[in-house]
Amino acid sequence: MNIKIIKAFRDVSYETTIVLSKMTPVMHKVDKRIIAFYGKNKIITNMSNAKDMQISKIYDKFNIKPNDYAYEIPTLINPYLLNNSTKHYTTFETKNEAMLNPNLNDCSINRIFTDGSKSPNGTALAVLIYEKGLEAYTVIGRLRDENSIYQAEMSAILLSLMIVTNNNIQGKTIIFTDSQSSIMKLKSNDTNLSTIISEVKTCIANLSNNNNRNVQVHWCPGHKNIIGNETADYYAKLAAKSSTKLLQIPLPLKNLSLKVQKCQKDMFVHRWLNGMNGSTVKKFIRDINNFDIINDHRLVQIITGHNRLNYYLQTIGVAESSICKCNKDIEDDQHFMFECELYETERTLILDTCELLNLTWPPKRYEIIENPLLQHRTVEYLIETKRLNF
Ligand SMILES: [Zn+2]
Repeated sequence: MNIKIIKAFRDVSYETTIVLSKMTPVMHKVDKRIIAFYGKNKIITNMSNAKDMQISKIYDKFNIKPNDYAYEIPTLINPYLLNNSTKHYTTFETKNEAMLNPNLNDCSINRIFTDGSKSPNGTALAVLIYEKGLEAYTVIGRLRDENSIYQAEMSAILLSLMIVTNNNIQGKTIIFTDSQSSIMKLKSNDTNLSTIISEVKTCIANLSNNNNRNVQVHWCPGHKNIIGNETADYYAKLAAKSSTKLLQIPLPLKNLSLKVQKCQKDMFVHRWLNGMNGSTVKKFIRDINNFDIINDHRLVQIITGHNRLNYYLQTIGVAESSICKCNKDIEDDQHFMFECELYETERTLILDTCELLNLTWPPKRYEIIENPLLQHRTVEYLIETKRLNF
């Protein structure tokens, strides 16, 4: 597959095909798929059976802590209560509050405002509970920096439900969130839900089965001066900056695959820099993360050293002699590119460019790759000479 993309000779090294095609190494892709599968199926907490042992090895390889990605919902419990003791009356009489609920002055309804915040300061959530018209609790919690805003919003909803359950809050309770994606996920009939959404749905169902309770999750617009929403937003931002208790919400799987990808790249770069393969390529490509993919198969032949020149053909037993047609020297890339008199006319293309760019003759191999104009002229030279055509 890689070979097809770079149109290189079949016998170039595996490392070279990866570098030139800029593909993810195949073996590592398999690791990534296994991790994604296990992450999705949430069965990574117990490393006991053979399959899990295999996963465990992969985790070690990528330096991943399985618990970072395993859902352990109970860790959400015991958040930090900010002002448990300060209860004061809230009237719900502002105009914007009225938009939220027609029965706003009906103090028999408990209102909970939730919010998540993600910024360079960190990721956090806040839950603001008005019980029978009273601001009863403000709960804040910090999540890990790698957690997503969506996870923070959803966790805030789950936390609200747990507080309703644990504190035995009776009657009708409306949980407000300004996260449209959370509402959409909760409305969705998709059966392949993440653990946290299933948990929220189960909690709502359990609470609704109780005759004394009715819990609903409603959307409320953000940044519209709705006091509950603004206050939750304020506390969430405050929590991100604070040393509040860290809630162990599993990291998103996206984070896992980014981490694996980065690890794979680092491991490959190490292997490339320290390995024997690709010695010719290394003269051309100094930084494998910083070059444009080479589209011309003739230039790829030169870069890989696996090409139609007699020197290489002789080493693989296709040509009897490595001597050039001009009979002056061995036909290797140095001779063909910069010395052979048979191509003097065509070579003026490269010579003139080097002069223009103030490069000493012959140019360094990496200069051909790193300088777009020189690369372009070199490809023209290779085309004009027709020497590397199939
Ligand atoms: Zn020659």
